[in-house]
Amino acid sequence: MMPTRVYSFRLFTSGLLIAFLGTLSTAQARRAPKESGSTTTVVIDAGHGGYDRGGIPGQRVSEKEMTLDVAQRLKKVLASNGYRVVMTRDSDVFVPLGTRVAIANNYPNAIFVSVHFNSAKRTGAGGIETYFYSHDSLPLASAIHYYVAGGAPSSNRNVRRRGYYVLRKTSIPAVLVECGFLTNPTEAALAQTASYRQKLAEEIAAGVRGRNTVASARSTTRVATGESIPLQPYIDQTRVAKSKGRRSKRSHKKTTRRKKSSSKPAKSEAKTASKGQEG
Ligand SMILES: [Zn+2]
Repeated sequence: MMPTRVYSFRLFTSGLLIAFLGTLSTAQARRAPKESGSTTTVVIDAGHGGYDRGGIPGQRVSEKEMTLDVAQRLKKVLASNGYRVVMTRDSDVFVPLGTRVAIANNYPNAIFVSVHFNSAKRTGAGGIETYFYSHDSLPLASAIHYYVAGGAPSSNRNVRRRGYYVLRKTSIPAVLVECGFLTNPTEAALAQTASYRQKLAEEIAAGVRGRNTVASARSTTRVATGESIPLQPYIDQTRVAKSKGRRSKRSHKKTTRRKKSSSKPAKSEAKTASKGQEG
């Protein structure tokens, strides 16, 4: 989960991406996942673990258990697809953020997928959202989100750009997917079924396999290439990321918070912001 989304939500450019995703031909993307994974390493990061349960205080369903289970299922799916898979954790242990990043950066040609579930005080909050930071990570984020959000009954909360520690410090394409809200009764009930967690794993894997095809579809759409992301948020976030980097040791969910929020959201951002945000 992420505690403070209200504040920074509209500062990011995700609104563009939904337009991009919406323009993808279903057939085009659905036939994508045929890539051979024989040369690709996927570093799978199950969020939280050990004393870090994830989620918010009093949350009934433990995020760390759900993330580990989905991650382990994802590991099996990707391994069966021929990928080399590395887990940042494969049991209920606490792994510091720096260690997770170090593991990822140990595989220069890998991609990094961090699995999380969301939470909010308002139980009605729900949906799937996918985060990336570096522009190199956008195709992977777009593809994973396309499949996970497309395969889930939950609402689509878009692809978003944010400087989470594990996204900012990894030197390889890195994505963090929030697979629904464990504080939402419907989504929590789903998450607690093995079949749904398996589906999540398979959709994430489809995104991994389809990342290049979904990315190449960008050239046929008008929106959301890495270059089309407004420059201003990128610069701002990079600057804050540097100055606040020290604070990000404790939780990988700790994001770079902006002191200045004076910049107006772009039109597309305002549209998504109006849907409201949960803390
Ligand atoms: Zn989390």
